Amino acid sequence: MPPVNTYDVVITGGGLGGMLCAVLLAKEGMKVCVLERDKQIGGCLQTFSVHKKVFDSCVHYIGGLCEGHTLHSILKYAGIADQLKLATYDTNCFDAIAFGEAPTLYPHAQGEENFVEQLVSFFPEERKALENYINTISFVGDQFPLYRLRNGNAEEKATVSSWEVSKTIAAITKNEKLQHVLAGNNLLYAGIKGHTPFYIHALATESYIHSSHKVLPGSSQISKLLWKQLQSYGGEVYRDNPVTLMKEEDGKMQYAQTADGRRFYGKQFIAAMHPKILLGILESSLIRPAYKKRIQGLEQTTSCFMLNLVLQPGKIPMRHHNIYWHAKEDAWSAIHYSPDAWPANYAVFFTEDEHHKGYAESISILSYMHYDEVKQWEPTVNYTSHEQERGIEYEAFKQHRTELLLEKLYRQIPELKGNIADQSAATPLTYRDYTASPEGSLYGILKDVNKPSETQIAVRTKIPNLLLTGQNVNLHGVLGVSITAVATCAELIGMDHILARINSIK
Ligand SMILES: Cc1cc2nc3c(=O)[nH]c(=O)nc-3n(C[C@H](O)[C@H](O)[C@H](O)COP(=O)(O)OP(=O)(O)OC[C@H]3O[C@@H](n4cnc5c(N)ncnc54)[C@H](O)[C@@H]3O)c2cc1C
Repeated sequence: MPPVNTYDVVITGGGLGGMLCAVLLAKEGMKVCVLERDKQIGGCLQTFSVHKKVFDSCVHYIGGLCEGHTLHSILKYAGIADQLKLATYDTNCFDAIAFGEAPTLYPHAQGEENFVEQLVSFFPEERKALENYINTISFVGDQFPLYRLRNGNAEEKATVSSWEVSKTIAAITKNEKLQHVLAGNNLLYAGIKGHTPFYIHALATESYIHSSHKVLPGSSQISKLLWKQLQSYGGEVYRDNPVTLMKEEDGKMQYAQTADGRRFYGKQFIAAMHPKILLGILESSLIRPAYKKRIQGLEQTTSCFMLNLVLQPGKIPMRHHNIYWHAKEDAWSAIHYSPDAWPANYAVFFTEDEHHKGYAESISILSYMHYDEVKQWEPTVNYTSHEQERGIEYEAFKQHRTELLLEKLYRQIPELKGNIADQSAATPLTYRDYTASPEGSLYGILKDVNKPSETQIAVRTKIPNLLLTGQNVNLHGVLGVSITAVATCAELIGMDHILARINSIK
């Protein structure tokens, strides 16, 4: 007699990666369950409220949600694309890039030709370079078969995967200002000059140029809709159920055990959490110590400080674009900031007030923050399933950083002064605790062009019935994680099969 809790697929981690895999496999008739540590599903797709206003914990805008893009096709196949309520960004400027005290906002526009046209008015000599930039990101996208929803081979991307981001941009234009404008929204991938592969920039950027949207009222809609789809196929989600043990025996994964001692048996397992966390709970003689050491030693992308502001109604004109500001005229320097010169950058995201159209009801501001800055409060753990005060000194630290950030922000948005109704701040510790990302890392493992094989995590593991998915495999972001979910599911149902199904409803 098989144990009661037996599934075709047990998925550990209910973020986008886990939830999307669950839907794609349940659609194939498999009996699937998702085990999620937190009370809220979604991982980085969580929302919370301050003063009754909804805020995104992580995902503020998404590229490629319009028809004709791979992300749209995948989410349509998952049954949710047409149900998402979306706010559009300004066609001529979804991201505005600013430097230092200068008032100029350089636009990144939607639509490939429009992207070129909007920047040509600031860089009239650079039309050819801008056209070349668009062609280059498109060419790079073509080298990633799955990014174009086709079955290819791994060698295709080898031609471009060794390109480093800042050098590739510099080879496209000698105009240094334009180089930094093109890299201006690099917080989207926490890019590091000399390390980040160009393809990460290219795949993310191409999607936002295709189409940029904010999900209303918040990004948790994506996980909620996926959950609904999963339920309609008979799939199960267990929230507030941290997995504390994943057990391999006789060469195969046997079960995942949750903190309350329940065991979930499966034919297949998908770990949709950070590999470092997986290795901490995985009991298996098949995983070699050298592999464990490599994963434990990998550098993570940096973390951030986030300030969320509720605004007085009808006071702050709505911007239908985000603003990425750099203290220096160098888009690559902020990530190496020194604490006494913080903040070195910020990104601002606006949400429109439904009752006062044309005005913002809230804004969220993100700025890089290294984990070391909050390391002294490391032993404190605070998230919905485990609430704990971190202490007065920590609160004072947050308040001080809030003031420093606001001081810079008032120069960009002077009308903000005196019009903040409420606020809340998050640090790398908040991200570490709410998203279970080591060191509060924004996007998981840092992909390094100098160490491609060490920093690339494969979908397959040494345990034949244990697969990986999520932002640490391949690419991060809603787009990257969705594509990876397809790659993970393809291991179980076949790449040609799943691509044919997705492409058939495009
Ligand atoms: C601040 C921030 C801003 C971002 N902004 C954007 C944006 O604007 N646009 C965009 O496209 N992307 C953005 N991203 C990136 C994007 O959110 C992520 O790449 C993506 O959502 C990651 O999905 P995932 O499923 O791989 O991981 P996660 O969302 O981290 O999910 C992993 C899940 O595993 C669970 N888990 C961990 N350990 C256990 C355990 N032991 N037992 C059970 N469950 C466990 C976690 O609780 C979590 O729910 C942002 C990320 C951050 C941090």
